[in-house]
Amino acid sequence: MSSKPLPILPGATLGILGGGQLGRMFTIAARTMGYKVMVLDPDFASPAGQMADVHLQADYTDHGALKQLGAACAAVTTEFENVPAASLIELTNHCRVSPGAESVAIAQDRSHEKTWLREHGFATAPFALVDSEADLDAALAVTGAPALLKVSRFGYDGKGQARVGTLEEARAAYREFGGQPCVLEGFVQLELEVSVVLARSDAGECALFPIAENRHDNGILDVSIVPARVSDTLARQAREMACAVADKLGYVGVMAVEFFVAGGQLMINEIAPRPHNSGHYTLDACVTDQFEQQVRALCGLPLGDTRLLSPVAMVNILGNRWHNGGPNWDALLAHGNIKLHLYGKEAARPGRKMGHFNVLDADLPAALALAEKMRAAL
Ligand code: AMP
Repeated sequence: MSSKPLPILPGATLGILGGGQLGRMFTIAARTMGYKVMVLDPDFASPAGQMADVHLQADYTDHGALKQLGAACAAVTTEFENVPAASLIELTNHCRVSPGAESVAIAQDRSHEKTWLREHGFATAPFALVDSEADLDAALAVTGAPALLKVSRFGYDGKGQARVGTLEEARAAYREFGGQPCVLEGFVQLELEVSVVLARSDAGECALFPIAENRHDNGILDVSIVPARVSDTLARQAREMACAVADKLGYVGVMAVEFFVAGGQLMINEIAPRPHNSGHYTLDACVTDQFEQQVRALCGLPLGDTRLLSPVAMVNILGNRWHNGGPNWDALLAHGNIKLHLYGKEAARPGRKMGHFNVLDADLPAALALAEKMRAAL
C-alpha cells in the first residue's frame, strides 16, 4: 500500500464511495477544510457528485474506477453500508481506507450484525435467523408474536420488513421477500429510541456526540431531539455501549449505534458504519459536526470537540411534501433560528430523504414546538 504519512493534510484528495446526501455533506465538509474530493457513484446526478471536484460515474465493483480512485486519493471512506466489502479491500492496496471492510461487512448484513452483537454480549431484541421457511416455526417460538421479519441485506428505513402475528403470516412474508435470508425479531414495546454518533481514531480514542432521541414515522426517522430526554444513567449506559461496540470492532471513523429503550433497558437495534441521519443536528448545534469528524478520523487528525452549543430539534424533509408544488419554504426560512439543508435531489419520491432542517433554541421545548409547527406548515 502506498500509504501517505498521517495526518493527511488539506490539499490532499479524499475519496468517498457513494454519492447520496451523506456523501454530499462529507464532501462539503472536506472541501471547506481545503481537501479535494473524488466521489464514486454510478448515478450521474448524485447529490455528492454535484459538490465534488471529481465524480467517477461507475459501479462500486468497477476495478478500473476503484484503481483510479485509490491512485488519486490519500484516503477513502464510505457513506453507505451496502458498499461491497471486496471493493474496500481492493482499495486498501492503494490508499488508506476507513472504516475497515470487516466492520462494514458486519453492519451490512442484519443476521451477521445481530449475531455479532449477541456474541459480544450486547443486548438486542429477541431474534432468530431465518435461512429457510422451515426455520420460521422455531424462530417464532424464540421471538414470540407479534414479530418483525426483516431481510438480512439491503433493507433500510423500514423497507424489507413485515410485521407478522402468526406462522402463516410469517410464511407469506418470507415468500414475499423471495425466500432470502432474514432475521425474525420480537416486536418490542418501545418507550423511546435513541442513538449515539461517535468517532474512533486509529489510537482508539472515542469522541461521542450528545445522545439523540429519535421519533420515527413509518420506519423512517422523522425528528431527532437533542439533548435526549433520558436519565443520566441511561445516557451513560448508551455512551458506554456505543464505545464498547466501536472498540470491539476496532473501528476507525464515524459510526452510529441505534438503540431501543424498553422497560427502562437499552437494546441495540442497528450499527451504521458511517455518519447517521440522527447526527444531522451536529451540523448546526455542535462545535464539530459529524462530517468534519469523518474527515478528521479519515485523515488521522485529532478528533474535533463534540460539545453541544444549543438544544436542537432536527426534522427530516421527505419527498412526500412535494405534492402541491413543493414545500412552503417561505414559512420555514422566516425563522432566523432554523437552518435548512437540501440535498440537491431532482426527483421527489414519497419516502425519499430530500433534506432536513435544524431548529435551535436555548429552550428545548421551544425548539421542539417550532419544529412541530414547521413540520406541519411545510
Ligand atoms: P430498522 O430499519 O430495523 O431500524 O427499523 C426501523 C424502525 O422500525 C425502528 O427505528 C423502529 O421504530 C421500528 N422497529 C424496528 N424493529 C423493531 C422491533 N423489533 N420492535 C419494535 N419496533 C421496531
